[in-house]
Amino acid sequence: MPVRVANILFLAGFVAYCAIRGVYQKRAEGAEKIDRRRDRMETILLFVVFVGNILLPVIYILTPWLRFADYRLPRWEPWIGVGVMALALWLFWRSHADLGRNWSITLEIRKEHELITHGVYRFMRHPMYASIFLFGLAQGLMLSNWLAGWAAVVTFTPMYFIRTPREERMMVEHFGESYRRYMTEAGRLWPRYQRKGQ
Ligand code: SAH
Repeated sequence: MPVRVANILFLAGFVAYCAIRGVYQKRAEGAEKIDRRRDRMETILLFVVFVGNILLPVIYILTPWLRFADYRLPRWEPWIGVGVMALALWLFWRSHADLGRNWSITLEIRKEHELITHGVYRFMRHPMYASIFLFGLAQGLMLSNWLAGWAAVVTFTPMYFIRTPREERMMVEHFGESYRRYMTEAGRLWPRYQRKGQ
């Protein structure tokens, strides 16, 4: 696939990714929060993810500034990226739809927070993070640039490993035994299928 086509397809996926986030962010607005755990570490991690997920790919596509880090991809590789991106967008959309007004950009519990264990959350506890990893993988497979291509996977990895245990601790504090049971039923990042009652 020519580089220009791969870049345009990536841009289309990127716009869809931002649109999904924008729509659901708007729907989750206004719900009162009773616990907010946004410390300095969270703020730094969010900024680092913003750089890798948004800033670098946008700079790469819209300016020639990152050209020094270009490399050649095998011709078939971006096609795999397109497939991975389709899966990432589907999972990103479904996890936002299933989480509904319980979503937030940082670690928060809302006044009428509901523990979601249905939809894609039935199989894994962090489908949204899984979709962000998949999107980052698609970014690496589609953009032929060392900086913009793999930046999302590199910057999201510390966010995932630092945030997830904190998030699960917060969920256990608020939902107690229900969340503990949910942890045994659903996988973390990888789907675990268990028939109800097993
Ligand atoms: N880690 C999840 C959600 C990311 S959004 C995922 O990857 O899909 C982050 C917010 O979602 C957290 O602040 C927490 O309040 C909320 N959250 C996480 N898991 C949840 C669940 N199963 N039910 C309801 N809210 C959840």
